[in-house]
Order: sequence, then C-alpha cells, then structure tokens
Amino acid sequence: MAYVGGQPIYILSGSSRRTGGRDARRSNVLAARAVAGAVRTTLGPKGMDKMLVDSSGNVVVTNDGVTILGEMDIEHPGAGMMVEVAETQEEETGDGTTTAVVFAGELLARADDLLDSGVHPTVVANGYRFAAAEAREVLESMAVEADGELLAEVARTAMTGKAAESAREHLADLVVRAVSAVREGESIDLDDVGVETVVGGSVADSSLVEGVVLGEERANEGMPRRVEDARVLLADVPLEVRETEVSAELDVTSPDQLRAFMEREEAELRGLVDAIVGSGANVVLCRKGIDDLVQHYLTREGVLAVRRVTDSDMRALARATGARRVSDFGDFSAEDLGRAGLVEEREVGEETLLFVEDCENPRSVTLLLRGGTEHVVEEVGRAVDDAMGVVRVTLLDDRVLPGGGAPEVALAAALRDFAEGVEGREQLAVEAFADALEVVPRTLAQNAGLDPIDSLVALRTKHDAGATAAGLDAYSGEVSDMFDLHVVEPLRVKQQIVDGAAEAVELVLRIDDVIAAGPLSGSDADEAFDG
Ligand code: ADP
Ligand code: MG
Repeated sequence: MAYVGGQPIYILSGSSRRTGGRDARRSNVLAARAVAGAVRTTLGPKGMDKMLVDSSGNVVVTNDGVTILGEMDIEHPGAGMMVEVAETQEEETGDGTTTAVVFAGELLARADDLLDSGVHPTVVANGYRFAAAEAREVLESMAVEADGELLAEVARTAMTGKAAESAREHLADLVVRAVSAVREGESIDLDDVGVETVVGGSVADSSLVEGVVLGEERANEGMPRRVEDARVLLADVPLEVRETEVSAELDVTSPDQLRAFMEREEAELRGLVDAIVGSGANVVLCRKGIDDLVQHYLTREGVLAVRRVTDSDMRALARATGARRVSDFGDFSAEDLGRAGLVEEREVGEETLLFVEDCENPRSVTLLLRGGTEHVVEEVGRAVDDAMGVVRVTLLDDRVLPGGGAPEVALAAALRDFAEGVEGREQLAVEAFADALEVVPRTLAQNAGLDPIDSLVALRTKHDAGATAAGLDAYSGEVSDMFDLHVVEPLRVKQQIVDGAAEAVELVLRIDDVIAAGPLSGSDADEAFDG
C-alpha cells in the first residue's frame, strides 16, 4: 500500500481486471505518483535513507532511487513505467534516478489537473514534447566545459549525502583515476573497472589497484605468496592430461603396462610444466582445474598458480596485464605472457585476496572498497557506482551544469518565456512542464528542513537578477552560486531526466485502456480477453 496526498492506494498484484478510459488513466497516474512519493524523501544530500526488507528478511539500507525501486514489488503498469524511467536513467547516465522519478510524478500530477479541466491528453502530450525539446537546448546553452578539477567535483556531488560522505574526497579521486585509466578514445566501458568490496577497515582505506583482485587463493600452500616482476600465463584450458588420452580405452593386462601408461601421463604433464616454466612464466592463472601432479611440479618450480578463475576475471586480467589467453598449448610462447609488477596473496579485512597489481598501462583496474560493516560497504559501492557513471559521461561529453536545483529554476523561467510563443492549448502544457521542474528545488528544500516556498522565491529572485548558477545550498539553507560550492553535475544527466520523464509521461497519457493479464483461468481472465 502507498499513500498519495494522504489517501491510501493499493497496488494490486495478479489482478486481472480491465479498466478503460478515465479510470485507466487515473489508476496509472495514482500508481505512478505513489512510486514518486516513495523515493521523494531521499532526494538530495539531506535526503533520508530507506531500509528495505525483503520477504526472507534481508536488509538493504540505501538512498539510491533505482535500488529502492528495484527492491519494491511493483506490479501495477503505471508504477512499472516509473521503474523504467529510473532504469533508463541509470543505464544512460548512471545518476539522477530519483530526480527523474520525482519529476515524472510531478509531470503526471500536472497533466492530470489539465485533463480534469478539459484539455485533451494528446494536447498535453504534445505540449510536453515541445517543452522537452526546448529544455534540451536551453540546458545545452547553460552548460560549461568541464576542466580537470570539475571532474572530481562531479564525482563528489554524485556521492554527497551517501554513506561515503566521510571519505568523499578520497573516493572521488579514486573514481576519477579509475575511470580515466580505462578510457579508450571515445569509449569508456565501466565493466573495465572492477569493484571489489571488503568488510573491515574504514572507507578511507579504500584504494585503486592498477590491475585485478581475485577472490581465489593459491592452488597449493607450498606456492609462493608473493611474486615480483610477474610474468603471467592465462590458461583457458585445464592443466591436465589431454582429453583424448584420458578417454582412450585402457586394456591393462599386466603391472608393466599400467606403469608404462602412468609414466606416459607423467611425462606429458612434466612436458606441459616445462613448456610453461620455459616460457618464463612465474604466475599461472587458470580458467579451469589444475592436475595435482602439475600443481606439485609448479610448486617445485616456485610458480604461483590459481585455478577456477572466473571468465570475467580472465577478461580483466588479459586487459590489465596484456596477456593473451591461451587455449592451446600447441602454439604457446613467451609472447603470450602478460606482466604485473607484483602478484601477491594478502589478507584484507576477513578475506584472502590475490592482487595482480602494478600493471603498466592497465586497460582494466579495480576499486577496492572498504567499510566497517556490510551495509556500509554496499552503500559505498552504490555511491561509487553513481560517481563512476557521472565521471564517465563527463569525460565523454565534457559538459557540466551547476546542481542544487539551479538548472531546474533556470529552465522553468526559460520555458515560461517559450510558452508565450506556443499557440493553442499546448501553451498550458508547456507552462505546466515549467512548473513541474520546480519540484526539484522544492523537494531539495523540504528534505533539508527548509520552507520550500521561501526557498523557491529566493531562487527565482536570484535567477531573475541573472545569477543562472544560483542553487540551494542544502547545508546552510542559503541560495548560492553552485560552482563556488563545487556542486556540479553532468549535462547528460539533466538532459536524460527531462527526456526520459517526458517520454514516459507521454506514454501514460496515451493509454486509455488497461487490460491486466491475470492467471489464465477463471472468469476474470475470460473477461480480460473479451473484445
Ligand atoms: P538522484 O538519484 O536524482 O541523483 P540524489 O539524492 O543524488 O538523487 O540528489 C541529487 C540532487 O542533489 C541534485 O539535484 C544535486 O544537484 C543535488 N545536490 C547535491 N549536492 C548538493 C548540495 N551540496 N546542495 C544542494 N543540492 C545538492
Ligand atoms: Mg545522485
């Protein structure tokens, strides 16, 4: 159950009723607004956290919009649209999910008012589309170039008010270094930044590893714990006797024959180890299993070996060390090996991890996040995730905006001007769009314990006087220049909020019939498929 304006609404699951026209729309709008209401109080640095408990009692404490919505059991189609808004926002930009949902909820609420006063849904949808297109351009013209220092500020802003607060500067620095390291021209794949979380220690102990951290331990206790100037072999095949030999039918009729067979096997494995050691490899990381005898020989040769490394770790290892993954020892040579300054097994917190680090120009790196408890580490992980997203798009686009509600207030003013030139009833929709944008500064104020109306008036006054970067300082409650306060966000985040919310709302407005599929038996279902 959720509340809208103090009124309880029930989001039913598995219902198979059909609703049409006004009722369909109304029910979608209510459900969507309920979702927006659920995340609203988490917006901004002073937003509250939510404690989510699932049916088996697992607890997640978070402030992250997309996480909250992901954990909620949402079945209503109108509410589901809001979840999609958050998911798209997350995929496209990595941040701004709460804002997108809150803004979409406000757009819907205002659309509903217009419809009540007799404006046709299509007119509202068109007006919203005009406004969104204009908003894109206005935002573009407001954006400034992101130089070096702004990059770290963007990361810090994305983490403000999250669990990472105490070590924000440090984490922002790690994130900027990590994301910059995996950039390849015009593309940055965040999968190349591994994130390893460890309970124990404090957030400030988090670090950037120029390489990969594995959860697996050495195959054998006798192997070295530490190898400097490592030459790394990545094996995609098991280090065992080759399949064909093993499966060959054995017809042993005398002890001599058995011994001969075993000697052949031993010789083959010895040959494999000789080839590996001969290539200069002193670290062997294997995707599959390693035969006991091979482990024994490798141990004697002082080689550190690890088996059952996951495929994604193998991919990261190849990118970090420059090794080629070997799947056939027939054409294997020293050139296939990668390099790492240090490979070492270390105890971190309560875990034993294998560090493959100090790689030169690694194309894959790892953020090792620490924190006192599991809940802290997980929330730090989510904050860092947002920060990586915003640093990525800032590196790619090189354009940023002030935060703290500044762009929304500026946009609202610009759209009110724009509305004057819009003919017909669409004008009303453009104005509604402008008003809806102000939900962002109003909510930031509310969550900071300020009066939303006073704050909005103060903001508008500053903007009217030409201070386009004037936003709300959630800590002091003052209206200040957001660039001076280092509250900065990527242009792409704001553009996606406007586009994504407008698109989703347009979809909801165009729906006048909901046919919910229930269990495919019983009269309800028959009715649902009727006409
Ligand atoms: P979202 O999921 O939308 O990113 P957040 O809880 O991260 O939600 O809040 C983002 C909003 O908080 C943005 O409008 C951002 O500009 C604002 N914000 C961040 N830091 C500050 C600050 N110090 N003062 C005021 N607003 C801030
Ligand atoms: Mg955010």
